[in-house]
Amino acid sequence: MTRRSIPGTGALLSSSPLREAVAVHGRTAVKAAIHKAQQEAREGRLSSEDVASAALAALSRLVARPVLNATGVLIHTNLGRAPLSEAARAALSAAAGWTDVEFDLATGRRAARGRGALAALGEAVPDAGAVHVVNNNAAALLLCALALAPGREIVISRGELVEIGDGFRIPELLTAGGARLREVGTTNRTTARDYAAAIGPDTGFVLKVHPSNFRVEGFTSAASVAELAGLGVPVVVDIGSGLLAPDPRLPGEPDAASALRAGAALVTASADKLLGGPQGGLLLGDRDLVTTLRRHPAARALRAGKLVLAALEATLRGPLPPVAEMLSADADSLRRRAHAVAAAVRGAEVVETDSVVGGGAAPGVRLPSFAVALPERFAAALRAERVVGRAEGGRCLLDLRTVDPADDEALVRAVLAAGDPRCR
Ligand SMILES: *Cc1c(COP(=O)(O)O)cnc(C)c1O
Repeated sequence: MTRRSIPGTGALLSSSPLREAVAVHGRTAVKAAIHKAQQEAREGRLSSEDVASAALAALSRLVARPVLNATGVLIHTNLGRAPLSEAARAALSAAAGWTDVEFDLATGRRAARGRGALAALGEAVPDAGAVHVVNNNAAALLLCALALAPGREIVISRGELVEIGDGFRIPELLTAGGARLREVGTTNRTTARDYAAAIGPDTGFVLKVHPSNFRVEGFTSAASVAELAGLGVPVVVDIGSGLLAPDPRLPGEPDAASALRAGAALVTASADKLLGGPQGGLLLGDRDLVTTLRRHPAARALRAGKLVLAALEATLRGPLPPVAEMLSADADSLRRRAHAVAAAVRGAEVVETDSVVGGGAAPGVRLPSFAVALPERFAAALRAERVVGRAEGGRCLLDLRTVDPADDEALVRAVLAAGDPRCR
């Protein structure tokens, strides 16, 4: 292959698909992808006709690609947790340019950052004296450790030294924040007396962590927030999933309002689990403590971006987010949709199944659902079509509960593209 046969950068940039890619990725990224593909062609690793498509392929790998979640796991951590509502997506787009995130249009002066999101959160949880939003729940806990217990003790039950996932352990996060842990009780039983005996002048706060992704059954007991609230030190409650008020469909899942009413000084939670919003960390509770957290120097390093604040506000004020819709979808409509999808794909079957909440929330709750069952090999073929199903019992199940009804047709197209279930 000769060097001359390799297309030049200018010609490639003005050719149709790459010219359009400039609008999406910007000129610098497109040029870099072209140069890399040209280099590969020079080294004989790519034929000159393939330079444009190799550059495009490299660019398409740059973007996070949308996928259809047919796993039946409502809050799928590996798929980005909660999908945003239309209102939140519109708010993201509106906030992408200049926005009044820290500006008062009436006075022309600087204003409290993200005050719209903070007001919406405060109104959603009237029991909170004040609220603050940070990057995620881990950041909320870290800020508590940094601001309320530097060089001091956090009193925590041995039954609540939790690993959330991917090696993220709450005890290690807290000690990384410069606090010492004072472990009390045992794995299965911890009483209010255990806490009381450990509290002293060195105590920064008592922390209760919701063991969100596992259950301990049998001879167990834990101290309630109400019991701990009377011990004379702040009680911080990590409720995990971000339920703001009790939900009868999720018995046993702690919520912010109940924890505050029981006497919690602060509640921490994620915004992208059951709340159904963008990645964020919520802090709600005592006004003075929230002010201390907000004024700590590390608060700046943990703060939420303008896009998050905009999407959070829209999630809180707008219509129910998809997580809530999925949670309340009734089994009959799921069955009808599963039959409609299966009818369009010869050889597909409909099976009864259970969806789960996921995201380390409500581990015991099973939501009755219906799925389209395909041969197991479809799992990989469908991933190539950006559809993620669930492998179960030697089959690939597509659970309709986590599929937006508006995506049913796309699901059928993806299955048809992935192969014929009747062929081996
Ligand atoms: C998910 C979870 C966390 C971590 O939240 P992030 O928002 O992912 O940082 C912390 N604590 C509990 C109990 C959780 O369930």
